[in-house]
Amino acid sequence: MALSPFLKLDIPVTFKDHPGVQSAVLYTDINLCNLNCFQCHNRHAYSGKEERFTYEELREKLSMLKLLGVELIIVSGGEPTLEENLEEGLKLIKEIDFPVRVDTNGTNPEVVERLIERKLVDGFAVDVKIPLKDEYTPSELQRFKRVLFSDEGIPDKAVYEYANRLRITINTIKKYSLPFTLFRTVNYPLLTEEDRQAISEELKSFPHQFNPFYPVEEIDE
Ligand code: SF4
Repeated sequence: MALSPFLKLDIPVTFKDHPGVQSAVLYTDINLCNLNCFQCHNRHAYSGKEERFTYEELREKLSMLKLLGVELIIVSGGEPTLEENLEEGLKLIKEIDFPVRVDTNGTNPEVVERLIERKLVDGFAVDVKIPLKDEYTPSELQRFKRVLFSDEGIPDKAVYEYANRLRITINTIKKYSLPFTLFRTVNYPLLTEEDRQAISEELKSFPHQFNPFYPVEEIDE
């Protein structure tokens, strides 16, 4: 039986994930991600086995959520844009007539644009984890490598590559008017007040929120 891209987990229904909208969250592979952020919450929260819904099971779940009055399906991960069968999964959600928001770290602008063009999404929640600059100081690079990769030894170009790709994603999203788009920043303790202001400035024309940082393990500063 064909398996969907979504994990067989309890589906949380909440008004908090997309403010004021009753939404339900589906997860793609939690471990499929090209970043390794400082204390990644998703990876720590779900360490169980990753069984997937079949398409039949998914159809049943979605129909039930429809009856319960859910207004929006949120697709989270891992990094959903890296999931091979994401489009198939989104097509099924759209068949049941749900709007969909995909949560992304923004490093895959080609997929973001393709999903918009194919009308498979109604918005994105894009994480902007550090200020986006053309030049970073050595101390910024040191902090931002820890934010993005949990590793200060990674080459500097990885931070620049992240910033470039995220900028392309933001500019792509700017071209379209998607009703369920927002930008988010985790209030990492590694960010300074200046960093936070630079991120707010970059995103001032969009809905943007700072989310609290919840440590998942002891912090080694
Ligand atoms: S982008 Fe998200 S899923 Fe990937 S490592 Fe960072 S916090 Fe975890």
